Amino acid sequence: MKRIFGVETEFGLAYTQRQTRRLGPEELARHMFRKVVEWGRSSNVFLPNGARLYLDVGSHPEYATAECDSLADLLAQDRAGEGILLELLADAQAAIEAEGHDGTVHLLKNNADSSGNSYGCHENYLIRRTVEFSRLTTALLPFLVSRQLLVGAGALIGAVPPGTRAGEGPATATSGPVFGFSARSDFMWEGVSSATTRSRPIINARDEPHADAALYRRLHVIVGDSNRSETTSLLKLGSAALVIDLIESGRPLKPFTLKDPIADIRLLARDLGSEHRMRLADGGETTAADMLEYFLGEAADLVARGDHSLGDDALAVRVIDLWQRTLTAVRTGDWDPVATEIDWAIKRRLFARYQQRLGLDPGDFGDPRLTRLDLAYHDLTPGAGIFGGLEEAGLAARLTEPATVARAADVPPQTTRARLRGEFIRRAHEQQLDFTVDWVHLRLNDRAQRAVVCKDPFQSEDERVDRLLALMSDA
Ligand code: ATP
Ligand code: MG
Ligand code: MG
Repeated sequence: MKRIFGVETEFGLAYTQRQTRRLGPEELARHMFRKVVEWGRSSNVFLPNGARLYLDVGSHPEYATAECDSLADLLAQDRAGEGILLELLADAQAAIEAEGHDGTVHLLKNNADSSGNSYGCHENYLIRRTVEFSRLTTALLPFLVSRQLLVGAGALIGAVPPGTRAGEGPATATSGPVFGFSARSDFMWEGVSSATTRSRPIINARDEPHADAALYRRLHVIVGDSNRSETTSLLKLGSAALVIDLIESGRPLKPFTLKDPIADIRLLARDLGSEHRMRLADGGETTAADMLEYFLGEAADLVARGDHSLGDDALAVRVIDLWQRTLTAVRTGDWDPVATEIDWAIKRRLFARYQQRLGLDPGDFGDPRLTRLDLAYHDLTPGAGIFGGLEEAGLAARLTEPATVARAADVPPQTTRARLRGEFIRRAHEQQLDFTVDWVHLRLNDRAQRAVVCKDPFQSEDERVDRLLALMSDA
C-alpha cells in the first residue's frame, strides 16, 4: 500500500533588541524573504527540492515539504526546511545589522505566540476516493483528539480550558499555568470544516486534492503540533497514517464517536495524569489511553503483516514500539523511558530540572523564567535555542543523518512527482527561463506557453516532462 505525505510548517518570527528601535514581524519577514523575492520574483515560490516556501498571513514563513511516499523521506525533507529557513534567517540578521540595528532576529518553531495566536503544523495524507470522506473523518477524529497524549509538543497553558464554565473543567489548585500536552488544543473549535482561520477545525475539509480528483483526496489535518523532536514527528505522522490505513482497509473498527470532542481535546491537553473520561455518542465512556491502546493493537497487526503505507518497515516497527512505550509512560506516570524521544516528556524533564535548580515548587509553572525556557525550546536561532544542544548531548533522539538532510535541501524525493518538479525548476534556473509551477502544473512562460499537468503524485517519471526539459536545454 502506498501513500503520499507532505508536511507544512509555519514558523514564527520575533525580535530582541538592546538600544535601537523595535522591528515588527513584517519588517523581519521582508528582510528574510529578500533573497527569495529576488530569485523567484515573489514571496511564494517552489524550490529545486520540490518544496513550497512562502510567507503566510501574519508574516509567518511557511515551508511545505514536497510530496513524499515514505516517512524517511518526509523527515529528511521536513528537517531540510529548517535548514533553508535558518539560511534566510542569517541573511535577515546580516541585513538588519548592516542597517545599524543591534537586535537579534529569532526563528521559532512553536505552536502559539505571546499574543494568543496559534500556528503550527499541517499534515497532508493522500486518501482514496473509494472511502467515503465522512466515514473516514468520523473514525479518525477521536484518534486525533487523543493523539496529543503521544505527540504533543508540551506547553504551559491556562489551568482552566477556554469555553468551559467554572466547575466544568478539572479541579486545580492553581490559577497560574499548568504543564499540558499541547497548546494548540485550546484553539480548536470544530471537528471537520472548511474554515481555517476563525473557527479552526481539527480536519480541514476543503477539497483540494492536488491530484486526479476522481481517484484521490488530500486529507488536511491541522490539529497537530509542530514538533522539535524527530522521533515525536515520526510517531505523529506514523500513527495517523496507520489509523488511516486501518480505515481504508475496510476492516471493522470499534466506533469511538465522541459526544463532545472539543471539550475533550481541551481537557485532555491538561490530563497528564490520564484520568479524563470521554463520553461516547453511543452512551459509553472511554479514556484516551484505552482508545489509543485499541488503535495500537490494530496498527501493530498491519505492521506485522507488512501491510502499511509508511514506506519503510523498520520505521513502521519503530512507530509501534514508540507508541507502546509512550502509552505505558502516560498510564504509569513514569515518563523517563520516553524523555529523550517525545517532545512533551523531553520538555517536562527539562522543566523539572530547572524548577529544582531555581528552588521552585514542582507544581509552579508561573515563573517567567520557565516561560522563557519554553520559548527557547522552540527557538531555532543559533546561540539562542536549546533543542540543538539537547540533540547533541543525546538528551533528544535524532533519526535523520545530517548528510541526508543537507542533500534533501537541494534534491527532491526521487520516487514521487516532486522529482519532476525539482528537475524542471533546476533546469529553468540554469537556463534563466521564466516559469510558473504549483503542485500539479509545470509551465514555461515563453511565447509557446508549454505546460505539463502532473496529476499523479506517485509518478516520478514522465516522457512529457523529459521532452520539456530537453527543449529547455536547447533554449
Ligand atoms: P495554503 O497553505 O495555501 O492554504 P495548503 O495548506 O492547502 O494551502 P500547501 O501549503 O500548498 O497547501 O501544502 C500542500 C502540502 O500537501 C505539501 O506538503 C504537499 O507536499 C502536500 N501534497 C501535495 N499533493 C498532495 C496529495 N495529492 N496528497 C497528499 N499531499 C499532497
Ligand atoms: Mg500551507
Ligand atoms: Mg495547510
